[in-house]
Amino acid sequence: MKGHQPRKRFGQNFLVSPGVIRKIVDAVAPRAGDTVVEIGPGLGALTEPLLERLEHLHVVEIDRDLIARLHQRFPAERLTIHAGDALEFDFGALKAAGPLKIVGNLPYNISSPLLFHLAEYAAVVSEMHFMLQKEVVDRMVAAPGGGDYGRLSVMLQYRYSMERLFVVPPGSFNPAPKVDSAVVRMIPRKVGVTEGNPRGTGETAIDHALFARLVQAAFSQRRKMLRNTLKEFGGEALLEAQGFAPTARAETLAVADFVRLANVLTAQTQTK
Ligand code: SAM
Repeated sequence: MKGHQPRKRFGQNFLVSPGVIRKIVDAVAPRAGDTVVEIGPGLGALTEPLLERLEHLHVVEIDRDLIARLHQRFPAERLTIHAGDALEFDFGALKAAGPLKIVGNLPYNISSPLLFHLAEYAAVVSEMHFMLQKEVVDRMVAAPGGGDYGRLSVMLQYRYSMERLFVVPPGSFNPAPKVDSAVVRMIPRKVGVTEGNPRGTGETAIDHALFARLVQAAFSQRRKMLRNTLKEFGGEALLEAQGFAPTARAETLAVADFVRLANVLTAQTQTK
């Protein structure tokens, strides 16, 4: 790490395990001509082995000291460094010949807002591989019925097929975080309304903003029954008309159930 003092505010836990680094790069399986962007390259633990397999790589990094090091270490024609905040970065601007592959050992302090930011670009992405806190990955991939299943699960599973690939212990990083981490693969699903397909694929929330509000309200007080948390959307009447028990709670509904409820509401407002 020679001379770099890890910055907590940027979530800097640098990968130091060659075995874990190899496993991540193998999971990404980059091919020479792929358009790949790494979020938070840091000291280059993943950057270097990725560049061994790629002609070119984009990185987004916020820490100026690390940016200066990256400039010194990698030639500009192989590595394009986007200096700035990944939360504000326009990933759509990178889509070149093909769809984007996004990778990163993400700063854990911004993982949820970053995942929501990235979801806006799902249409131009072919796959993403991220290291995150294991607890967050477990929430992302959780099935209905359990305590891990919540807003993050529904909103991300709506957009992506996701798989937890492997768990990474704290000792694989410097400094070591207090918790286990895990690597997740996220592949965008074909959802969304397009001009030629105004009703989407059948699993598409016609009004995405309404779907997002419904899911947020449903999980806002997860112990409460949906007839209460969804009152502003029609509560008990809405649930019963769609065949759900009036006593149902948010964690018992599948992603497709939330999509169906949102689309019923959209249809109601459109016929008014
Ligand atoms: N990829 C390196 C590794 O695996 O060793 C570093 C990973 S470290 C967990 C997170 C990296 O993201 C750091 O380099 C940090 O400076 C960077 N970072 C933190 N917040 C960021 C942000 N908002 N936008 C872009 N990069 C950020």
